[in-house]
Amino acid sequence: MAGPSTFSVTPIFVAHRESPVSQQAISLPVGGADWTIDVAEPAIQRLLSVDPADVDSAAELSFARNVFVPLTTACRYTCTYCTYFDPPGEASLLAPDEIREIVRRGADAGCTEALFTFGDDPDDRYTAIYDQLADWGHDSIHSYLREACEIALEEGLLPHANPGDQTREQMAQVADLNASMGVMLETTADVAAHSGPRVKEPEQRLGTIRTAGELGVPFTTGILVGVGEDWRDRAVSLLAIRDLHQRYGHVQEVIVQPVVDNERWQEGSPDVAALRRTVAMARVALPETVSLQVPPNLAPVREVVDCGIDDLGGVSPVTDDHINPEYAWPALEELREIAAEAGVPLRERLPVYERYLPSALRSDEFDGKAADRPPAGDADSWLSDRIAAAITADDSGGRRYRAVIGREPSRVFRPDAAAESR
Ligand code: SF4
Repeated sequence: MAGPSTFSVTPIFVAHRESPVSQQAISLPVGGADWTIDVAEPAIQRLLSVDPADVDSAAELSFARNVFVPLTTACRYTCTYCTYFDPPGEASLLAPDEIREIVRRGADAGCTEALFTFGDDPDDRYTAIYDQLADWGHDSIHSYLREACEIALEEGLLPHANPGDQTREQMAQVADLNASMGVMLETTADVAAHSGPRVKEPEQRLGTIRTAGELGVPFTTGILVGVGEDWRDRAVSLLAIRDLHQRYGHVQEVIVQPVVDNERWQEGSPDVAALRRTVAMARVALPETVSLQVPPNLAPVREVVDCGIDDLGGVSPVTDDHINPEYAWPALEELREIAAEAGVPLRERLPVYERYLPSALRSDEFDGKAADRPPAGDADSWLSDRIAAAITADDSGGRRYRAVIGREPSRVFRPDAAAESR
């Protein structure tokens, strides 16, 4: 994990309260909608005045056990900070048997989530990818994602797919096989890091988050810090997410993720002070019912744990040595240490947060606020019948899911407990 000493101040971070101030409200177009998100100037100014001392620490921290399934590295975009995507001719596509092997290993290791990672909807330059999909009987990456989700459910993992921008038709094609889905908004600003021949546009990301709300999909999104946006942009991005959550009630979690140096990005990362201030802004911007995550593998989370975060994201078995569920994964040990240092319990969660589960599936200990019913339209429950059936099934996957939500022996890590309860 990157420690604070690896973080450097970069010129993109303007000093506290020195952001340029427009007196005009911001009007953000939302893909596929005939309305805009209007972010009022007083709300922006309120967030810009937030200090880490303004927020309280969370009463507990949560995490999920997941396994990464990089379905494809093909991506229509070329974000300058991203090492995930491969160009046409080099991009990979996992075969069905590879998917099954990964998710089976994850289930054997005690995971509950198959995190399907993607490049954004591959464009038509990726002829080899489409030829391979056609050989496997699929006319689109979303058709193949559906098969991949089926494999995950068969093997005992709940899918959480993050396929980038999606049309309503694409998301509807796979929504019933996902416990939750996600896409990072990253920023509402037009930044050079998203430029190039194929520009990733905030309007489309906002449209994807809107679509998830309309379809009643519990959704994870977040902001990327340090890609050229300024403080005002961060405030606007957080308020845009809040607006969409207020409309649909579907944003279960917001990630505050710092950009980090890699082979394609050497522009530096936000320093700890900037990260702390951004996390505190997020906590103030978002209702308590939206969890706030900082990923420990990318950020000095110990330095921001008092700024209102309540989730540490996913941990995965990283090598074959760690597939034994009795073996304490190093990443999990680190999360336990972080929680212990903060003096709060560490609670395992499913890829869908407990407040989005029907009351019959929530733990007796649940003392949060249940999510409101999804908006009228396509959905009358946050869980599809298929996902609800997986959680209630009398099989190893169902028992593992129910253990996490307290319907079987629970997995709560108390700060004073030496060992977890399985
Ligand atoms: S859309 Fe995502 S996967 Fe594609 S280049 Fe940008 S960050 Fe990477």
